[in-house]
Amino acid sequence: MATPTVQSGIRGFRGEVLRPGDPGYDDARRVFNGMVDREPALIARCTGTDDVVAAVRHARDAGLPLAVHGGGHGVVGHAVCDAGLMLDLRPMNRVQVQPSDGSVRAEGGATWGQFDAATQEHGLAVTGGRVSSTGVGGLTLGSGSGWVERKLGYTCDSLTGAQVVTAAGEVLEVDADHEPDLFWALRGGGGNFGVVTRFDFRAHRLGPVLLGGMLLYRHEDAVDVVRHYREFMAQAPDEVGGGAALLSAPPEPFVPEAARGRPAVGVIVVYAGDVEEGRTVLRPLLEYGSPVVSMVQPMPYTAIQQMLDTAYPAGMRNWWTADFLRELPDEAIEAAATRTAGVPSPLTQVILVPGGGAPARVTPDATAFDLRDAPWNVHFLSMWPDPADDERNIAWTRELAGALKPYAAAGAYLNFLGDEGPDRVRAAFGPEKYARLVALKDRYDSDNLFCLNQNIAPSGQVPRPRAG
Ligand SMILES: Cc1cc2nc3c(=O)[nH]c(=O)nc-3n(C[C@H](O)[C@H](O)[C@H](O)COP(=O)(O)OP(=O)(O)OC[C@H]3O[C@@H](n4cnc5c(N)ncnc54)[C@H](O)[C@@H]3O)c2cc1C
Repeated sequence: MATPTVQSGIRGFRGEVLRPGDPGYDDARRVFNGMVDREPALIARCTGTDDVVAAVRHARDAGLPLAVHGGGHGVVGHAVCDAGLMLDLRPMNRVQVQPSDGSVRAEGGATWGQFDAATQEHGLAVTGGRVSSTGVGGLTLGSGSGWVERKLGYTCDSLTGAQVVTAAGEVLEVDADHEPDLFWALRGGGGNFGVVTRFDFRAHRLGPVLLGGMLLYRHEDAVDVVRHYREFMAQAPDEVGGGAALLSAPPEPFVPEAARGRPAVGVIVVYAGDVEEGRTVLRPLLEYGSPVVSMVQPMPYTAIQQMLDTAYPAGMRNWWTADFLRELPDEAIEAAATRTAGVPSPLTQVILVPGGGAPARVTPDATAFDLRDAPWNVHFLSMWPDPADDERNIAWTRELAGALKPYAAAGAYLNFLGDEGPDRVRAAFGPEKYARLVALKDRYDSDNLFCLNQNIAPSGQVPRPRAG
């Protein structure tokens, strides 16, 4: 019988290895963003920590570029590389819940759909991605924002530990008492420090049914609706999550025909508490103006977490960026409303996510993630199907993001950052945290093996943020 080494070409590797031309290779190398088309020399589908160790050592010893694929949702496409090794964590997707103490162990390739299904069986939750196919891995390492963050904190605020395979191929158990600096870096510092094979969380009681959904208004009402939402959120309790979205009305039967596919404004609400209490607290939003559709109702938390799934089909062309805003004055709302009236693609969304609540109360130094006190986080999520429209969509998104720059806080949000260069990555952490992260990079990955990410280079080296 052949040894695993002979079968895979990777010493000690037991999972499947795909090469160009193999059945399944093209499906496996595809990521969420259809603009990304890269061809790794090897796709190593890891079945456990030993496989991850074997694949990391192989890439290092063979001098191959190494891409780590969690959920494949990073819009820059760092999960896949040309002519290197793509370490595919997707077969490692088990989520184990301990209902007695709310602890959750999620393997590094799990998605939020898998995580939410497992935790909600026990009435538990951790703030998770707003589209269920997003990976727990990349999202948590970049901090993790979700509908219930104002109540439960960012995803990384619920992280209690992790198992990490370092660039040296060592397996480390990391928590507040073991390798505490590395534990700090994992909470916001991205995929720079190793492959996380297991994330440990402390989950919170939530659901299973919450009051949530969307109110959809005509785009002509955008300025008034967003201003009203801003005033409401300034006083809202932590239980109120959601956002204001400049989007196009979906072509669905529940939308009046005249509005379908046309620019609109939505108010997404999620009340992370008792349903009846939610109806009372949210009344000023629920009774505001004349929505063309009102879809706010009690629904399972797992359904709330999938509410946007159909709006984010995989394989479209995507160009994303984001900014924290230090204020949202009328002029900023007007600038966004004017431009989104002429949005070039009906798939594009601009989401204004309110800050405050639990994340803002965490000590700033507690995690690598910075900028906890910005009152708004704006995500510019441009999406379209046709390559011929790339230039127009990208130019439109850049112009809109530029129009809101005067209101931006210094800094950036790693999880929604595009390929925007090393200065933006630095800005995400500020100079002190960035220096601390560089020192940790020197300690754990001095050769920058893990460079295909929003890269923090070791001292004296230039970041290598591109995967191509
Ligand atoms: C449709 C969609 C919805 C999104 N919604 C949200 C949201 O609600 N909130 C939010 O905060 N972000 C959101 N994001 C952004 C998302 O969090 C980031 O793009 C994140 O990097 C995706 O993680 P992933 O594992 O799916 O992606 P991947 O592309 O697989 O990973 C991105 C990078 O993360 C690193 N990585 C992933 N897993 C591991 C691991 N186990 N160990 C070490 N490194 C790892 C690698 O460096 C990899 O290159 C969304 C993105 C998309 C496309």
